[in-house]
Amino acid sequence: QRVELKPVIGSTNQHWLSQLAHLNNGDICVAECQTAGRGRRGRAWVSPFGGQLIMSMYWRLEQGMAAAMGLSLVVGIAIVEALNAQGFKGVALKWPNDLYVNGRKLAGILVEMSGTAGGSCHLVIGVGLNLLLPTPEQAHISQPVAELAELGEIKDRNGLVIALSQHLQHCLAIFEAQGIAAFQEQWNRLDYFNGKAVKVLMSEQVIHGIARGIDEQGALLLELSNGSIQRYLGGEVSLRGE
Ligand code: ATP
Repeated sequence: QRVELKPVIGSTNQHWLSQLAHLNNGDICVAECQTAGRGRRGRAWVSPFGGQLIMSMYWRLEQGMAAAMGLSLVVGIAIVEALNAQGFKGVALKWPNDLYVNGRKLAGILVEMSGTAGGSCHLVIGVGLNLLLPTPEQAHISQPVAELAELGEIKDRNGLVIALSQHLQHCLAIFEAQGIAAFQEQWNRLDYFNGKAVKVLMSEQVIHGIARGIDEQGALLLELSNGSIQRYLGGEVSLRGE
């Protein structure tokens, strides 16, 4: 397994995406600082020097792109498991790609993919986890943030990277064999918004309801005021608390 360490980089995801042909499953790129960190749909990800755990892992999914649906949910579970194993408790998940502490964003996940001629697909799984963010940097973030340091002393950043890498590989192997359904129950237990009033934002539309976790395909379930259940599979959909 290859581990590439970069003090400063544009984006660890971009770095791995530019060398897909030379990577093997589980290879990771870790950086201290990103100058062009990114979130979903071109949004910026703030990752200042020393304040975060920034890591991208390569994985080749033999089943192809369609099978990658719901992958960020599985990555979320792997991160929670790794943090628990390192003694950090109280982390929840927000559909589809965030980790929360007390309703504030602790970490973001960005899965990027590219198909191959053989039908399989290259995945680059990016994780940005706030350890201790400098206050001036927090002012550049458009939503409330959380830091791992709130949950306990961070004694071993290398240990965190190793735990994260191991739990990711473990969960990815299960995901390949059994799909997202194997994680449904666990995800729903960790879901920050489960049972809470939320709104779903879709381009021009805002839909209000009660979050009811995910189904066996990883779709977000929203209970509407008439009692019916609406499902959302991702893409251009964002979830917010009321
Ligand atoms: P969605 O629910 O659609 O995913 P999101 O706001 O969580 O919405 P992402 O693309 O997942 O969007 O993440 C990018 C957003 O995360 C930024 O627009 C900003 O609000 C927030 N953000 C950026 N840097 C950080 C950081 N270091 N810690 C916490 N939040 C951050």
